[in-house]
Parts: sequence; structure tokens; C-alpha cells
Amino acid sequence: MSADFLPYGRQSISVEDIDAVVSVLKSDFLTQGPAIPRFEKAVTNWCGVKHGIAMANGTATLHCAAKALGLGHGDWLWTAPITFVASANAGRYCGAQIDFVDVDPGTILMSPDRLEEKLILAEKNGTLPKIVVPVHFAGQSCDMPRIHALGQKYEFKIIEDAAHALGGEFEGERIGNCRWSDAASHSFHPVKIVTSGEGGMITTNDDELAWRISALRTHGITRDADRMIGESHGPWYYQQLELGYNYRMTDLQAALGASQMTRLDSFAKRRREIANLYDVELAGLPLRPLARDPRGISGWHLYMIRLDLNQIKKTRRQVFESLRSQGIGVNVHYIPVHLQPDYERLNFRLGMYPEAERYYEEAITLPMFADMTEADVQRVKAAVVKSIDL
Ligand SMILES: *Cc1c(COP(=O)(O)O)cnc(C)c1O
Repeated sequence: MSADFLPYGRQSISVEDIDAVVSVLKSDFLTQGPAIPRFEKAVTNWCGVKHGIAMANGTATLHCAAKALGLGHGDWLWTAPITFVASANAGRYCGAQIDFVDVDPGTILMSPDRLEEKLILAEKNGTLPKIVVPVHFAGQSCDMPRIHALGQKYEFKIIEDAAHALGGEFEGERIGNCRWSDAASHSFHPVKIVTSGEGGMITTNDDELAWRISALRTHGITRDADRMIGESHGPWYYQQLELGYNYRMTDLQAALGASQMTRLDSFAKRRREIANLYDVELAGLPLRPLARDPRGISGWHLYMIRLDLNQIKKTRRQVFESLRSQGIGVNVHYIPVHLQPDYERLNFRLGMYPEAERYYEEAITLPMFADMTEADVQRVKAAVVKSIDL
């Protein structure tokens, strides 16, 4: 990366983070040691939730949560079309069919109105979903009380995709506390709010679900005699009770994650400051940020702008390329999942989710990370002004 290139996201690594990882290297356990429960506790304490199960990545947590909630062949998992492919792929790993609920045109979060309409229709057709995965896009929580109420009525389970949202809140409840869901999935990829290199964690208040997910993390194996079929053969004995995976996190990763968690509050605060600064600096330009739901506080994984392409006599691509040529590491989150060739093969096509598609035509993600300075924001602003110059 050249020195004057400003990426859209970047980890913040302290001397303490480095020391934490080095101390694992000098210890007895590189994996399945004490750093894993330490990291799990740091996250569950912060969120105010009973269980946290660390895994190799966020995708693995979505997969195991879906499987542990009973998702299989013949079932449906619904998510939003504006998300990373992982939210939908997790259902496909379980053999389930995927469908999407269009997004709210302002917040770009799963629209509870579209969800309700789709549920009414699905009830008639006998295609109600087993699991709904609301995505807290860009860090802002979906309307979880309403989605939860629909879940009670139509009997679906809820896995929050909170990969963008650690550090945020909704109606005073911390995202990840599972007040309105069965489980919440977190990611610690380096562009996310807290990193462990690669990594993920599922949080839940459900004891049985937590047990089953932690077994799936290691091949569906248990060493707990109470869970075994028949008698234990002795202290060496374990049983595989169902087909699971090797989705374990290493202690190197967990030590980094646990160390980072001590700075989550300051990361979240800094991201909010940057977002507010962008709002002020970009006001008056022919573009707008995502709508904010006043009931919540975003975790601010990402900051997007939507271009007013009627006023700007340029295409989104021209604006994007101009920003890149000025050293601004802009991105686009996301290409609607249903338009991926592998999803079009499943009969999804253009026109199915109009709000998601409209958003995709106009959106650009600006740099957003905790170590950004006000001068960086000014630099982005100047580059945006130049890029949309008529
Ligand atoms: C990052 C991310 C995930 C999980 O990604 P991993 O790279 O597997 O940790 C899931 N959903 C969304 C929306 C994400 O952005």
C-alpha cells in the first residue's frame, strides 16, 4: 500500500495487541488454550449476553448457527440482498433454499414492511422461512423488535448478522445481546470494528443452542459423558454425535481479539466522530448518507454516500474512478447478492429487489476506520468535490 493511499477500512494495532500475540507464541497453547475463553468473555461481557463461541471466521458462525437451529434441505432462509454473500451462503451450506427481503430505501436495512408482506404470501404458499437473517448493514441495527414480533407470529428463528455492528445499540440494548434474536453473528476480519486477523463469534442466550454450536465447531464431538450415547469408555473417550467441522479459532487470534476488545468503546466513539464529521463536511453536495434510525446508535463499520445522479453529470463509475485515482480507497458495498452469477443460476434476476438495485447504482463507500484523522476526512471531502465536478 502506498503511503498516500487511504484505504476504506484498516485495523488499529497497538503495542499491547502485539505483546498479547507474542505472549501466546511463548506459551503452551497456540490453539484451544486460555485466550479463547478470555476473548469470549470480553465479547459476552460487552454485549451483555450469556454465551459467546469463537470461531475461525464470521461465515462459520452463521453456518453453525443455522445448522444448530435445524436448517436443512427443504427449508428456507431469508436475508437481505444488500449484504456480503456470507449471509446467504450460510443457508446454502445447510442445503436450504434462499430468498431475499428487499431493503428500506432510506436505511438500506431489511424492510419490516416487505418482510411482513412476504410472510403473508409465504404462509399461503407453504414456504415460510425457518430462519431470517437481518443484516445490521453498515453498523446500524435493523428494527429488531418488529422482526422479532413477526418471528413470534410466523414461527421463524432469527440470526442477526452483526458483522458490521459491534459497538452499536438499538433502543438502549447493545447489539449482540440477542434481546430480539436467537443468536448474533460477529466478524473480526481486519476491516471490521474489532479484529482477530480472521475470526468470528456467535453470541446467544440459549444454553442448548450454545452447546450445539460449540460441538459443531469441532466435528460435532463431545467429551461430556452426560451427552454421550451409552457409557464413556474412559478419560480418553469422545463421541461424534453429528457431522460438524473444524471451525476453531487459534489462541493467537483470540489474544489479539481480547486485547482489541479493551478498546472497543474508543473505536466506536471515534467511528461515530468520523461519521458525524463526514455528515457535516459533505452536507450541501449532490449526495446523501444512509438514513439514520434515531432509535439506535450505529457501530459504523462503513460510511456510504449515495450520489444524486440527476444532478451530477457523471456516472457512479466515473466518480469512483476519480476518487481511486486521487488515492481514496473507495469501495462499493455491496453488489446485490441475487445478481451474483451463482445466485442467478438459482433463478434470481434483475428487477426482483428494486430498492437494493437502485441503491447499488448510486452507492460509494468512503474510508472509515478508527485511526482516521480529521485531515483524512478533509482530504476525502476535497477528492469527492473534485470527482463530482460538473
Ligand atoms: C464480514 C461479514 C461477514 C463474515 O465474514 P467473515 O469474513 O467470514 O468473517 C458476514 N456478513 C457480513 C455482512 C460481513 O460484512
